[in-house]
Amino acid sequence: MLRDRKRRYGRKKVCIFCADKNVPIDYKNPSILKGFTTDRGKIVPCRISGNCAKHQRQLTLAIKRARMVALMPFTVIH
Ligand SMILES: [Zn+2]
Repeated sequence: MLRDRKRRYGRKKVCIFCADKNVPIDYKNPSILKGFTTDRGKIVPCRISGNCAKHQRQLTLAIKRARMVALMPFTVIH
C-alpha cells in the first residue's frame, strides 16, 4: 500500500546552517563546503543535505566562488 511507504532514514533532517548559526557559509572555508559536495566534487542537492532553500542557495554560491578562486576542484581527477 502506498500509504505505508513511509520515509526511511528515520531522523528528520534540518538545515545545519539554520540549526547552528555559528557555521559560516564562506567560500574561504572549503572544509565546511566540502561536507556538501560529493567525493567527485559535485554539490549535494538540498534533498540530500537537508538544507533549506535559502542556505542551499548561499552554499551553492560559496562553492562556486571557492571553485573560482581554486580553493575547491570542479571535479576530482581520478
Ligand atoms: Zn537554513
